[in-house]
Amino acid sequence: MPQDISTRRIRARVDGTVQGVGYRPFVYRLAHELGIAGFVLNDERGVLVEAEGAPGAVDAFVARLREDAPPLADVTGVEAEEIDAVGETEFEIVASEHGGAPTAPVTPDSATCDECLAELADPQDRRYRYPFLNCTNCGPRFTIVTGIPYDRPMTTMAAFEMCDGCQAEYDDPLDRRFHAQPNACPVCGPRVRLRERDGSVVEFDAEDAIRAAADDLLAGKILAVKGLGGYHLACRADDEAAVGALRARKRREDRPFALLVADVAMARTLVRLDAAEEALLTSRERPIVLARRLPDAPVADAVAPRAPDLGLMLPYTPLHHLLVSDAGGPLVMTSGNLSDEPIAFDDHDAGERLSAIADRLLVHNRPIATRTDDSVVRVVRERPLLLRRSRGYVPAAVDLPITCIAPILGTGAEQKNAFCIGAGDRAWMSHHIGDLKNYETLESLRTGIEHFERLFGVNPVLIAHDLHPDYLSSFYASQREEAGGVALTGVQHHHAHHAATLAEHGVTELAVGAIFDGTGYGLDGTVWGGEFLVAGLVDFQRVGHLWPVRMPGGDRAVREPWRMACSWLTVMNAQLAEAGSQFPAAFEPIAQERWSMVSRLVTQGTGSPFTSSAGRLFDAVAAMCGVRLEVSYEGQAAIEFEALAEPGAAEPYPFRVDTTDPVLILDPRPMIIAVLADLAADVPVSTISARFHAGFAQVTAQIVELIAREAKLDTAVLSGGVFQNRLLLDLTVAAIEGSGLRVLVPERLPPNDGQIAYGQVAVAAARHGV
Ligand SMILES: [Zn+2]
Ligand SMILES: [Zn+2]
Repeated sequence: MPQDISTRRIRARVDGTVQGVGYRPFVYRLAHELGIAGFVLNDERGVLVEAEGAPGAVDAFVARLREDAPPLADVTGVEAEEIDAVGETEFEIVASEHGGAPTAPVTPDSATCDECLAELADPQDRRYRYPFLNCTNCGPRFTIVTGIPYDRPMTTMAAFEMCDGCQAEYDDPLDRRFHAQPNACPVCGPRVRLRERDGSVVEFDAEDAIRAAADDLLAGKILAVKGLGGYHLACRADDEAAVGALRARKRREDRPFALLVADVAMARTLVRLDAAEEALLTSRERPIVLARRLPDAPVADAVAPRAPDLGLMLPYTPLHHLLVSDAGGPLVMTSGNLSDEPIAFDDHDAGERLSAIADRLLVHNRPIATRTDDSVVRVVRERPLLLRRSRGYVPAAVDLPITCIAPILGTGAEQKNAFCIGAGDRAWMSHHIGDLKNYETLESLRTGIEHFERLFGVNPVLIAHDLHPDYLSSFYASQREEAGGVALTGVQHHHAHHAATLAEHGVTELAVGAIFDGTGYGLDGTVWGGEFLVAGLVDFQRVGHLWPVRMPGGDRAVREPWRMACSWLTVMNAQLAEAGSQFPAAFEPIAQERWSMVSRLVTQGTGSPFTSSAGRLFDAVAAMCGVRLEVSYEGQAAIEFEALAEPGAAEPYPFRVDTTDPVLILDPRPMIIAVLADLAADVPVSTISARFHAGFAQVTAQIVELIAREAKLDTAVLSGGVFQNRLLLDLTVAAIEGSGLRVLVPERLPPNDGQIAYGQVAVAAARHGV
């Protein structure tokens, strides 16, 4: 075969997540390997490459730009064109020109890669058991960045000067640690310390701090552990006394604790894992995955009382790898805070707050720039359903189906707050801020927004906010307006849920929405939450809703689900008498006077707004069945009620659909009569729960189909916090798909209020563009 010695040159444009992920050094190494000359550079769109060499080598080079891209890169397209060869002989990385707006300067924190893990376990390696090793393909990013450009001085590694060995790696384009900003080793990098509660360092012989910490755990102690995005509290998961003590000291009444397991094999001793769950568990985002617990799972009762699932995660930093493998078994790894407070991340604050809970503190001297909670996810219908999107996912962009003609900020809702910044056709959702109910969380929102505006070089000119006048997120928006330079646009809460779900699927057309949640401010000033919408991005129509009842005592009815039951039983008084219904035995412990007082609130309406909330209906039915009369967190009764449902087919309870008015009404009263009859007949709660879920899914599907037919629409949207309920979501999707409609469910963002800000941005972008 004659050898082709002619030279070709191409210019290739690489699109996708290709900046800040080691892509240019990868191209450089590839060019060296294949004998290619030319250059690679970052520009505003992504990466631009010119490559010159033998034709076969150039072809291989172009193919591998996509096929062999480094782990953190996500190449969505490579477009190459032939250009004239210029006789270049070297390949170089051309430095970025500053001044252009950065489009992807910071990526999410990523779990330790396999190459780094091998070094961690190798006694001959200079980073053997070094808890902060990382490389271009893994390690901290978002949690350590303090500003832009994303470069070592703009991270919390700024104070650590690299030793000669680390600097040489950092400077060598052929090294895995080329420009790895958090690069460190035992000589020059951060260190761990084991501290007593009083702050003194624990001394020990010949053992490192992590081994000593693991010994403490094995001895039944509770440790505060400084991790990536904040502090955790840790103890052995199978130690009844330690877990009980942790629960008592943390005052976290019933919420399940997350567990850290060393590997998938250890996870399988605790839960049943399907392929989708295993994939999430081992993904580089490393979320907490909720999976069905095995009946004989060796964990203390106090880990997750009454919960059918356990929340598991695999280690995502070298420190966590070492700790869990040294401890030899699953560890409770729950956020370092008292119940309802934000997770601690500042060392001084953590020392003060956590010393009362932990026996000792495993700390280190690399500061955390942004508090970032663990993400939480479960699998429904083989797809991920995010319950909290934070560490590992933030700040990866979520695409918008409509281009923002000017930068937009969405300030989110009140609970599970996260904000969102949109620019061009991308949106950046923030880390989980938490429930905005005091000055501290408002400050977290304010500083978080400032941080994102700096990181992405964006100055919002339009701010989208919830319509609720009392939300601190709305208050923040109005303050920005007063300061000048921005316009506001209000977005109704359930419209934001609907729009977020449409937008993440790239859909802009009208669809039928069934949006079920606990609370959202309605256009009529009442509390909405069981809503049927016909909506696109710009606007919405409320075409149906759950029959409204009063919330006796307002928010107290959220903490005391029996009040919602009292509300239904009071308004149905005559009907129940006629049906011969019996008063549920579950309410016998409630004093007659208390019941009458709440019943009077229902009839008189004092301080008791109307609500069409689906979440409150679930609460009411759960309370009637005696699941919970009072709860320690919103939705607890409904979650436990779902857990009780007997798997398999159940005869659905009847619901009535009233179509006499233009706005149709989902009337649950026939269901309540049937539930009371079943309770009187001693039907097990497992059956009642199954019948309730089946009935609610069935009537939801029936209404969605009815609306779709009348409005001539072919797409349905299901969202809102109530759809965190796996059983309900599963049954409802199946029922609607059975009628041939396409069903959209949140996948990249949570169905709860964690998606609101993104929905607000999508709505604002659509309105602004009209
Ligand atoms: Zn690595
Ligand atoms: Zn070093």
